[in-house]
Amino acid sequence: MRRTKIIATLGPATSTPPMLEALIQMGVNIFRFNMSHAPHDWVRAVAKSIREISARQGLEVALLLDTQGPAIRTGVVDRIYNLEVGDWVSFTVKGQRGTVQITTEANYPYLVDDIEVGNTVIVDNGNLRMQAIEKRENELVCKVLTSGPLGSRRHINLPGVDVKLPPLTEKDYLDLELAFECDMDFIAMSFVRRASDIELLRKLIVERKSPIRIIAKIEDQLAVKNLEEIIEACDGLMVARGDLGIEVPYEDLPIIQRRAINLCLAAIKPVIVATHLLESMITNPSPTRAEITDIANAVFEHADAIMLSGETTTGKYPLECVEIMDRISSRIEQGRTVGTYVNPVECKTSNQRMNAATVFLANESRCAGICVFTHSGKTARFIAGLRPQTAPVFAFTPNLDVCRNLSLHFGVRAHVIEFHNDPNENLLRMQSQLLSRGYVAKGDTIVVISDLVVGKDTLHAIHLHKL
Ligand code: PGA
Ligand code: MN
Repeated sequence: MRRTKIIATLGPATSTPPMLEALIQMGVNIFRFNMSHAPHDWVRAVAKSIREISARQGLEVALLLDTQGPAIRTGVVDRIYNLEVGDWVSFTVKGQRGTVQITTEANYPYLVDDIEVGNTVIVDNGNLRMQAIEKRENELVCKVLTSGPLGSRRHINLPGVDVKLPPLTEKDYLDLELAFECDMDFIAMSFVRRASDIELLRKLIVERKSPIRIIAKIEDQLAVKNLEEIIEACDGLMVARGDLGIEVPYEDLPIIQRRAINLCLAAIKPVIVATHLLESMITNPSPTRAEITDIANAVFEHADAIMLSGETTTGKYPLECVEIMDRISSRIEQGRTVGTYVNPVECKTSNQRMNAATVFLANESRCAGICVFTHSGKTARFIAGLRPQTAPVFAFTPNLDVCRNLSLHFGVRAHVIEFHNDPNENLLRMQSQLLSRGYVAKGDTIVVISDLVVGKDTLHAIHLHKL
């Protein structure tokens, strides 16, 4: 049973009901809608279809809406320009008309102020590199350094610049409404730069009384600088290597990934490694050796989840990608590096100490699983965060939102059950679910953290339970 979670981004290659069904069967835990590309009606239809399929199959998956965020983009061009080295391109702002032939209006009024002549301007995820050669009135003239096509609304990266766009743009607010409407489980906030960005979104979510949880995407130098406060403020972190790998010197990327994961482990926050894990499989049927090792490394580092982007939006082999991630991560989880790891966090409350004792017992007894009854999901999240060595965490909750939210956490399989007043009845329900789903076999031992009735009192208890 794989414990590392898989996130698949949706796109034209993956939006038909049979494909969604196959992906869920193959083990996708979370589906991501990338609002830089997804139209609202399409999101509504696909989200509905996922909910229907997962209800039918009894496999709850979560939905994640990924905002576009304060990204600088080029304007609309009348056709795709195939730029050659040495061509001139001009980016205009504030409605200025360009003075060179290939001109596009950027959505960022401070573009000309924020860039120095001589700086590199990176367009379309690094596919095009240009050098700023001259500033004219509300216009930045650049010379093309690497050839490639320039289409409409391409992303511009300005490494090291504290971009003066608000943390949530007008488009983001409209997209957030869609997340509430479609009852999504996570919002991934793009280009988070500081904790206050998250607090802004948190305020909106609290006002809406929504259970939606916030994933902070770290994508630039400022986010790296403010990493600790961002982790403190968010519900989960995404190491968004696509933009991060452009915004920081690329040799720093593996160091940042490892540090971000370690800080999340210490803070008991879930962490996602995203982008390019199987990039070559957009067009090829099998992964490169480097990609196999990259996935393995994310698992060695104890990430909660790994994510597919282009591989499943427009790639030719979406199902194969999920299968390959499943296979590699399952294999690596069984090795010594993952299977003997203990997360050395300090417990601060008596509940946390109970959770740590549960994990200790599970590790020592090499039991078939840890069983948790949870209203808010907190116990399951903490136990998963401690990284039980081999035992999966079976979480039972009366709350469907909590059940779906747990999709992100390492090793957690969550199910909805109604809680009975009699804890023994809950134990019986849990037992029949585990057996009927084939997670455990009769005769297996599990560790249960629950309430027990002793005389007239209910006691928090940890016990070994033989099925
Ligand atoms: P994106 O975010 O796919 O929305 O750009 C992920 C990344 O930058 O890695
Ligand atoms: Mn990004």
